[in-house]
Amino acid sequence: MSLENFGTVSFTTEAKAADFVTYLEQGKVMATRCRKCGTSYFPPRMDCPKCLISGIEWFEIKGSGKLATYTVVNYGPTGFEDDAPYTLAIAEFGDGIQMFGRLSRDIDEGDIKLGMGLKVIPVKLPGGRVAYEFQKD
Ligand SMILES: [Zn+2]
Repeated sequence: MSLENFGTVSFTTEAKAADFVTYLEQGKVMATRCRKCGTSYFPPRMDCPKCLISGIEWFEIKGSGKLATYTVVNYGPTGFEDDAPYTLAIAEFGDGIQMFGRLSRDIDEGDIKLGMGLKVIPVKLPGGRVAYEFQKD
């Protein structure tokens, strides 16, 4: 499994992106949590900068999040021109998780409101890539 199979979000090298993609293919959107201090990380990290240990566990991001901010993208970046327009959003879930991603096209632009309930759903993209998107909760 390689990073190229992940569609819409870039990860730093410190994230275990391959594991993240494997979980996505299993239908799970995962974050990580430090076993010592309980801090949650998304994108997932394999070490905790507070504790300087690598005692990290994966957990599934479930339940309802809230739309914190969003922007409509009218011109896609190179390679994604045909995708535009789409809506990029930041959603806040419990445990201090802030996720960056796309809103589902099923949500009408007129229905988008700050604070609206969102859930995060794995999606399959053309070419076998996997990603996630936010849907109305
Ligand atoms: Zn920690």
